[in-house]
Amino acid sequence: MGQILDGKGLANLLAGKLQQQVSELKEQGIEPLFCVINIGDDPGSKIYLRTKKKRAQEIGIAQKVYQLPADESQADLLALIDELNVNPQINGIMVQLPVPEQIDLNEALEHISPDKDVDCLTPSNVGRLWRGDHFVEPATAHGILALLKHYQINLRGKNVVIIGRSSIVGKPLAALMLEQDATVSILHLKTKNLSEYTKRADILVSAAGHAGLVTAEMIKQDAVVVDVGINRVNGRTVGDVNFDEVAPKASYITPVPGGIGPLTVESLMEQVVKLTRRNHGR
Ligand code: NAD
Repeated sequence: MGQILDGKGLANLLAGKLQQQVSELKEQGIEPLFCVINIGDDPGSKIYLRTKKKRAQEIGIAQKVYQLPADESQADLLALIDELNVNPQINGIMVQLPVPEQIDLNEALEHISPDKDVDCLTPSNVGRLWRGDHFVEPATAHGILALLKHYQINLRGKNVVIIGRSSIVGKPLAALMLEQDATVSILHLKTKNLSEYTKRADILVSAAGHAGLVTAEMIKQDAVVVDVGINRVNGRTVGDVNFDEVAPKASYITPVPGGIGPLTVESLMEQVVKLTRRNHGR
């Protein structure tokens, strides 16, 4: 039976350390504050906003939500981002995904100041990520690497297979893992015969958003399995991995919930603190 990679436990541990750093900043009169722009009323976004707010409060970070109507115009959104960019009290800005159809997300992201880009989605920060001289890191990818490091799972020379090529998970994770000398393959919806790749993975990460996608026969004996997926099935939250059949074959495996989710939120807070420190010359 694979050992459980306890993301929730590690997130709590790291949050304690971060809380200490925030207290020290506050003693110097520096208050970390980040803003989330939420457009419309996507039910998933509401849950994420609540989770983020709770973690931020525990750590001592203030989160301000700008709730905009579902029919918000692009021009007004850009004007708001401009305002937040120049507000010296604000250290981090993020646009909650998904956004309504009329919003040009790329243009909005390009508008965010790279110095306040907590999600690492502005073009210059994405470029730095691939160049290997990044300051911020996308939260989920950062959380996955923190978890592997905590359990002393080395990436050097390992075959890593990532299912999912999104800008928020698959691609940035590939960049960070390449930096750690892994050999990385990214699979996606158009990939033919997933098993051909997944069976060769020393470390398999699934970020597809497809419940039951990863089965025992798709993995190699003793693979490390990281499940990023969050899916609702019959009122339960499950990942992409068929946990009951994959866990006995894996050497390590993340649960859902309690795996990558809590680490993503904690990692986001780490980015807020990093940017706050830098924006104040620390
Ligand atoms: P997305 O929809 O933007 O991307 C999904 C990717 O998976 C795409 O590249 C697609 O090609 C690929 N894919 C989907 N089904 C596939 C299949 N059957 N075979 C091969 N490839 C397939 O999604 P996203 O924003 O990257 O999120 C992916 C999942 O991770 C979702 O379930 C999301 O809720 C979850 N997520 C979790 C966290 C967390 O903190 N745990 C953070 C971000 C996203």
